[in-house]
Amino acid sequence: MKRLAVLGYPVAHSRSPAMQNAALTELGLGKEWSYEAIEVAPDAFERRVLAMPGEGFAGANVTVPHKGSALALADSLSETAREIGAANTLSFAAGEIHADNTDAQGLLDALPQRPQGQRALVLGAGGAARAVVWALVREGAEVEVWNRTELRSRNLCQELGGTPVARPEPASHELIVNSTAVGLRGEDPFAELPLDPGGFGPGQTVVDLVYGGEPTRLVSAAGEAGAAIVDGIEILVRQGAISLRIWTGRDAPLDAMRSAARR
Ligand code: NAP
Repeated sequence: MKRLAVLGYPVAHSRSPAMQNAALTELGLGKEWSYEAIEVAPDAFERRVLAMPGEGFAGANVTVPHKGSALALADSLSETAREIGAANTLSFAAGEIHADNTDAQGLLDALPQRPQGQRALVLGAGGAARAVVWALVREGAEVEVWNRTELRSRNLCQELGGTPVARPEPASHELIVNSTAVGLRGEDPFAELPLDPGGFGPGQTVVDLVYGGEPTRLVSAAGEAGAAIVDGIEILVRQGAISLRIWTGRDAPLDAMRSAARR
């Protein structure tokens, strides 16, 4: 049996095991591969990862708060992981740990069109925002970045590109990406973020990385106003699909992953 896992702290809420096991079953790999969730505290992370190849693991996803540590312990890095400064996918082969970042390409795969030349507004400057800004800048979007703590958005843009903005004008952007944690615990995005529910309309794409049991208030408001919407589950599915291909070499069954992740 080849084992896979998601490592996080906490991790019980993760939909990756349901989603990846559904994908493995759909591909006919359910008897050879399995995917589990492993909760691991930051001070135990390195030891846990180094033990995994000996326990039959072929790879792992890494989520909050381990994406930086995963990069630091790897023997080799993809260019994407190195430039973003975070890894969400580890592969164990030939005694080596290879680190990749599939969050960036996952975002691009989830968008209804290529963002080249679009005016994009990214909200947030944490780990998720780094992958989003890197991907959009590289694709040739005109990226503005707002963050509650301005110093972080200034630092992020200095490193990865994009322009920090203190008072964005969301209506003038074709693409808006919420990569803050606002909405995760039911916070009102229109109180915490520089967005207005009346400010969305057709011609815009609104992406919310946050996901839960219900559509977020941001996704609902943007959809009602006629904007194209991409929710956090679709982003999860797309990054997971790339990770699955890295480990198994197989194209991921997106519909099976979507329905398992939404269940
Ligand atoms: P992080 O590194 O902890 O960053 C959190 C970000 O949220 C920071 O920019 C922070 O601003 C901002 N923030 C938190 N509370 C806020 C508030 N009340 N008002 C305004 N801004 C606030 O977290 P992360 O790893 O970037 O993740 C961010 C979100 O993306 C999480 O909800 C996570 O679940 C989601 N995510 C989803 C996927 C997916 O596959 N769908 C993948 C990755 C992440 P400050 O700098 O001012 O603190």
